[in-house]
Amino acid sequence: MKYFHESVETMPVEKLRELQSEKLRKQVKHVYDHVPFYRAKMDEKGVKPEDIRSVDDLRLLPFLSKADLRDCYPFGLLAVPKGDCVRIQSTSGTTGRRVVAFYTQHDVDLWEECCARALVAAGADNEDVVQVAYGYGLFTGGAGLNGGSHKLGCLTLPMSSGNTDRQIQFMMDLGATVLCCTPSYAAYIAEAMHERGIKPEDNPLKAGIFGAEPWTEEMRQAIEKGLGIKAYDIYGLTEISGPGVSFECQEQQGMHVNEDHFVVEIIDPDTGEVLPEGSRGELVFTSLDKEAFPLLRYRTRDICVLSRKKCSCGRTFIRMTKPMGRSDDMLIIRGVNVFPSQIETVLLNEGYAPNYQIVVDRVNNTDTFDVLVEMTEDKFTDTVSGVTEQEKALQGAMKSMLGINPAVHLVTPHTIARSEGKAVRVVDKRKLVSDSQWKG
Ligand code: ADP
Ligand code: ZN
Repeated sequence: MKYFHESVETMPVEKLRELQSEKLRKQVKHVYDHVPFYRAKMDEKGVKPEDIRSVDDLRLLPFLSKADLRDCYPFGLLAVPKGDCVRIQSTSGTTGRRVVAFYTQHDVDLWEECCARALVAAGADNEDVVQVAYGYGLFTGGAGLNGGSHKLGCLTLPMSSGNTDRQIQFMMDLGATVLCCTPSYAAYIAEAMHERGIKPEDNPLKAGIFGAEPWTEEMRQAIEKGLGIKAYDIYGLTEISGPGVSFECQEQQGMHVNEDHFVVEIIDPDTGEVLPEGSRGELVFTSLDKEAFPLLRYRTRDICVLSRKKCSCGRTFIRMTKPMGRSDDMLIIRGVNVFPSQIETVLLNEGYAPNYQIVVDRVNNTDTFDVLVEMTEDKFTDTVSGVTEQEKALQGAMKSMLGINPAVHLVTPHTIARSEGKAVRVVDKRKLVSDSQWKG
């Protein structure tokens, strides 16, 4: 099975744009007629629904930001009567107050279809046994992949996250072939299996679909090796539906955006200007089909690059690079921009495991920057000079990647908390970057 919905996933780009334009016209009218908050925003900008004739007119519309969603909590952006909704989900609250999103049955179906497409792109079909180890509940990870797996007809193991012993036992006993969870939890499961003496070739897995948090290429390689599988990325956010807004194919070169349901733009995060394909900027999504919570031009704060380059898998959907993190994950330390993912790259390149924590503080008006890294079995040393030498080497590698010098501290294996969901990599004691900076 190559595609879940072939005619759409391989639709010629021109036809796809026509389809998007047609859906967009309807969606803008739906939102204008049913969401007073957004209507006021459009009126303020002097835009009427009939001004939006095609996707090229998208830029006339105002942006929506996370701050708008928080202001409208809980029902302010609902575009259908509450009685028509069948579900809510909520953000993880990684960067502040939670946001709730509503779904009609139609919205749940389209979201699950997006996840089914992701599973097929990762090589799954209805013979597969899919272990869903994302959290179930308000978080979209569990529900999304669970639904996608059902849609595809796979035997679904609704494990939720945590209880790693049981994860491993069920995986082995029931022959799970596809694992879905956050990449940090996948790395933890790999570590736990290694400790139990289960070799990568001894587990039944063939692929994994990992997302919901930023992860590097180096992390991908570590997971692929640790579990003996192919590791595919999946991206999404609650506001737009959940995982499956975009997904990776066997090419593993960026994630295809489900463009029949979502229009994607890249903008300059400072000016809001739409940038040409190939530029690095902030992702903005417009939901074309959602009934209950149809966001137009939603600013994700995720930073990446889009490409229309033809993909060998045959899908025509545009691809986005891995977001290196949200604009608000970016740390500004002594005036230098630092993404946690850059530190992850250095650590894995130097042969360490992805177990680290970044601590930033301000002492006497100067930023302090500490990186705690676990020693690994093969690098283990208990001499002071051995430790100092390793710390120095790591510090040098980080300096050349980042341009500034962190204080690196090697710590005993297993002393940094493992993540079963989204990993918390940073402890920023300064709280310099306030949310207000990103109000669109
Ligand atoms: P929260 O914003 O509270 O974390 P969500 O659970 O909806 O809420 O998470 C969505 C966010 O997770 C995205 O905006 C993005 O920053 C991050 N994310 C999701 N998938 C990926 C991925 N594959 N790579 C990097 N970041 C991702
Ligand atoms: Zn592809």
